[in-house]
Amino acid sequence: MRAALLNAYTTAEIGDVVRIEEVDSPVIEAADELIVRVTGAGVCRTDLHILEGQEFGEGPVPLPHVLGHENAGVVEAVGAGVEHFTVGDPVVCYPFHTTGLDHAERRGCEHYVADRSTPGINAPGGYAEFLKIPERSAVALPRDSEPSSYAPLADAGLAAFRACRKAAENLRSNDTAYIVGAGGLGHLGLQILKILSPATVVAIDVRQEARDLASRLGADAVHASFSEATQASVDPPKAVIDFVGSEESLSSAIAQIQTGGRLELVGVEGRLDIPARLLVERELTVSGSLVGTFAELLELTELVADGRLEVVTTKYSLEQVAAALTDLREGRVLGRAVLVP
Ligand SMILES: [Zn+2]
Repeated sequence: MRAALLNAYTTAEIGDVVRIEEVDSPVIEAADELIVRVTGAGVCRTDLHILEGQEFGEGPVPLPHVLGHENAGVVEAVGAGVEHFTVGDPVVCYPFHTTGLDHAERRGCEHYVADRSTPGINAPGGYAEFLKIPERSAVALPRDSEPSSYAPLADAGLAAFRACRKAAENLRSNDTAYIVGAGGLGHLGLQILKILSPATVVAIDVRQEARDLASRLGADAVHASFSEATQASVDPPKAVIDFVGSEESLSSAIAQIQTGGRLELVGVEGRLDIPARLLVERELTVSGSLVGTFAELLELTELVADGRLEVVTTKYSLEQVAAALTDLREGRVLGRAVLVP
């Protein structure tokens, strides 16, 4: 099969280190496995971190490596013990493969399991024609659906859903919440927060096209920065869901969140330095969200299937993998970039 192989780390020209090559197709080895013909693989900022050689667990991911942890497609083959899927079924792939036995996941948190396997991180990913997953990681999609538009749910949507669900618990109808970054995650987050909470939702993004998208998707207001929102007399936020996580966005959030408010972090670009006294005196909650649970992916998939959540994608062929990654790095992608192998 064709796959996009990462052959070296770089912070420079991505086309020099990612190439389309012929590799062995995955084959079913265990009775509970599925082979998925990938029709959509989301392009994530984590892919850029891997590509730069940043550490994941033990160290940088071993090379050569096939990226792609945000996958969807059509079932191509099933193991002898697979009960709920047959060839031709459209599926989206929950990214964490676990045994089902760890106590954390039996309490509903598969993403807490330390020795999980994740395609595109510590196993071959979906930047390829085919991907092998266990049956228990597959989520069925409506029969007539186009799986590629569901691919971003497996990570971007899931992280946005979990962060917004946690923030929504503390939001009332006269509250204001800020979504920082209206890109691949944020454009989903603002819609999810509108569904899950009665709060006024303000999207903050430096890019005009991202603000236009946020307005079209239902943001109550859009601004280029926290200070612009303040100048426009927008209420200070009761919650900030930060999909950027830069030092600037984090410090603005901490400075402006109301007493009793919450900062929910998904973006990981910067550092957070908060005096303990400030956290106590303003009783702030600072929380991180790591992707999400299988149950959350089920809920999220239903929102899209029911037409309540719009996934905006910019599609690229597998051969355009370097362009997709470069466009993401340069901030040129509207919504989520998705490779269509
Ligand atoms: Zn990701």
